[in-house]
Amino acid sequence: MILEELKTGKKVRCVCESCEGTGIYKGVAEHDDLGVICHYCNGTGNYVLNVEDNMQLVRDNNNGVVYVVIDGIISHQVELFKELNRRTDVNYVMYGTGRFFSPTYLFEHGASEINVIRYEEFLNGVLPLPIKEYVCPRQLSQDYGDCSFDNDCFSHCSGSFAKCDKYGKLECWNKFYDGAQTIDEKQAVMRMINKKY
Ligand SMILES: [Zn+2]
Repeated sequence: MILEELKTGKKVRCVCESCEGTGIYKGVAEHDDLGVICHYCNGTGNYVLNVEDNMQLVRDNNNGVVYVVIDGIISHQVELFKELNRRTDVNYVMYGTGRFFSPTYLFEHGASEINVIRYEEFLNGVLPLPIKEYVCPRQLSQDYGDCSFDNDCFSHCSGSFAKCDKYGKLECWNKFYDGAQTIDEKQAVMRMINKKY
């Protein structure tokens, strides 16, 4: 080990491990060439590591591995983020719903190209809009690590979003989008979802 301390600022962008820096997650629920916006990084492929006063980042110059050192002891390793990694197994991207889907099923059941976008669009900075029939805004924001949209839901949900009498209703989405009208404005709201990290 030839360790070198890295000179960093107080904030360092690291690769999201869940999506391996691609911003897109593909698990058992995402059939065929479908992927979903990563729940951990909201499609950015990275998260911000706050470098506290008792922390250092050191790189092993033999293999390039970067370690986080806390109070002088190696804690864990991170990968510094440069740009989105590409996936080769995804052509369509949507927001996660917790349900099993394929692009073919979605388009046959009325999904629009605003809700299920081409991977190339995602790489150009576009975000899909959630499909309101398949997920509610409280559920989605909670799944993506942001509980600030509470919508006074618990009295309606009693533990299961799908059983909520307001599930899939436009009124909740209008509240969630908070006045955003255009697709661009709604995408901007989606970008604001806070990170779990
Ligand atoms: Zn991610």
